[in-house]
Amino acid sequence: MSKITKLDDIVSLCKRRGFIFQSSEIYGGLASCYDYGPLGVELKNNVKKAWWKSVVQMRDDVVGLDCSILMHPMVWKSSGHADKFADLIAECKKCNTRTRVDHLQAAAEDKKTDKEIELTKQLLDSMGGSPAEQTSRRQSDIGGAIDSIRQHTEHIDIDAAAAKAQDLSNKICPNCGAVGAFTDPMPFKLMFETQMGANVDDSMTMYLRPETAQGIFANFRNVLDTTRVKIPFGIAQIGKSFRNEVTTKAFIFRTREFEQAELEFFCEPGTDDQWFEHWKEARFNWYLNLGLKKENLRFREHDPDELAHYAKGCVDVEYRFPFGSGDWQELEGIANRTDFDLRQHQRGMRTLNKWYETNGDLAKIELSAEAEDYQSGPLSYFDDQQKKRYIPYVIEPSAGIDRSVLAFLVDAYDEEEVRGETRNLLRFSPALAPVKVGIFPLVKKEGMPEIAVNIYNDLKRYFNCFYDEKGAVGRRYRRQDEAGTPFCITIDGQTLQDQTVTLRDRDSMDQIRISTDGLKTHLRDKLDL
Ligand code: ATP
Repeated sequence: MSKITKLDDIVSLCKRRGFIFQSSEIYGGLASCYDYGPLGVELKNNVKKAWWKSVVQMRDDVVGLDCSILMHPMVWKSSGHADKFADLIAECKKCNTRTRVDHLQAAAEDKKTDKEIELTKQLLDSMGGSPAEQTSRRQSDIGGAIDSIRQHTEHIDIDAAAAKAQDLSNKICPNCGAVGAFTDPMPFKLMFETQMGANVDDSMTMYLRPETAQGIFANFRNVLDTTRVKIPFGIAQIGKSFRNEVTTKAFIFRTREFEQAELEFFCEPGTDDQWFEHWKEARFNWYLNLGLKKENLRFREHDPDELAHYAKGCVDVEYRFPFGSGDWQELEGIANRTDFDLRQHQRGMRTLNKWYETNGDLAKIELSAEAEDYQSGPLSYFDDQQKKRYIPYVIEPSAGIDRSVLAFLVDAYDEEEVRGETRNLLRFSPALAPVKVGIFPLVKKEGMPEIAVNIYNDLKRYFNCFYDEKGAVGRRYRRQDEAGTPFCITIDGQTLQDQTVTLRDRDSMDQIRISTDGLKTHLRDKLDL
């Protein structure tokens, strides 16, 4: 029970303190879309900064990139997304609810316990939200919520899934409970489509990218030609991705618009296993170093039949989210993608004329066969020490920024009794805390606000600071605890005498006196930024 209460608490704290709002709330809300408020945007930016610092800036073998979201449609033909990025769904003929076939349970083996249903009801209620949201939630049901929460989603190869699609006659609709009332399974494409160009005749169907990775492969040659990178090296990118997911919910865990942080690390075939291990360790430690508790983090190796046909290995970093009965869910996938993507794009480049011939109809295009000497194709790498050309292998750590934000929020959240009152706080690592230092005059007189403003103006050049002179100082501390601010400075009567201030630590609530001259150095040291 405490687990579910925890997500409930997080959702309401996020709204109350301006971390995360429902999108378009003034118009009734837009389901599965969220906006980051003043504290949320700082937190999310800090997560991205921490990833960029660790994956790009602290390394000599990784460079960054920022690609456009809209790309040439052939990118998605070559990558396989245009044909294969879909879930297999079936529609209930009684209530018209569409559910993923792999999420359907047989009537006899419906494993949803009363407790799970109760917990999930609480979860859905806890999300509150606008009428539009609630309607969409009602439509998608309690059972679906449990599924979306406890199942591991994988996007499927349509043909393979259709071939494997089981008999649905014994399957139960999670919305209305009807048994065996489903339509035949049909593919539901996950890429969002849009039109580019003003003229109806020559406008072109485009896709919002479902992952950032393909922009990296498409720029592999550009990076090779314009920098001095030598294999092994990586290209990293953070950016928005879009997937028309069949089921969303669980707050920002699974949404249709989200942000990813992806690295494609190119290495010589034969060294890939070693780099796979390297990135597994580096990425796991990143979460630990930013404060996630070790007992809430684990690896999950993919079973061989779960692996994409081209992948040599894949492991998920999972976090124990407080959904349902407390579930392990993917935060990040780390895959050995072999040389698949670059080889596919070489095939795509050879196919470009068909794109013109078919007026851009991707369904009519078949990718050209691979050239016999593909190892020396346009996306190959020349190793000038070994004097040989090859297509590098790729290790891909692919993380979700929004999911990480949720994990950091959940993990940092704490409640404790202090002198008979409940203190809510976010024990964020200093690197992630949206505000680093709160600065308060004890009272609004005797020159204290002036000194406090001077300190604020000085420190804000180095750290994100917040100045507050309203209300009792105890309440000001509590507000900063809830925002996760690691330190608060109070200017009081003694400051006027000896130029010292009180420095209060969020976690221990200990207070020390420190001279105003030494504040910057002391905070720099403590915040370790
Ligand atoms: P899932 O199994 O949860 O659908 P996936 O295996 O399809 O995820 P990847 O394609 O490996 O996900 O994407 C890499 C990361 O992007 C995921 O680990 C996750 O953190 C994030 N991500 C993927 N889909 C979503 C989504 N709909 N909403 C939020 N984050 C997402």
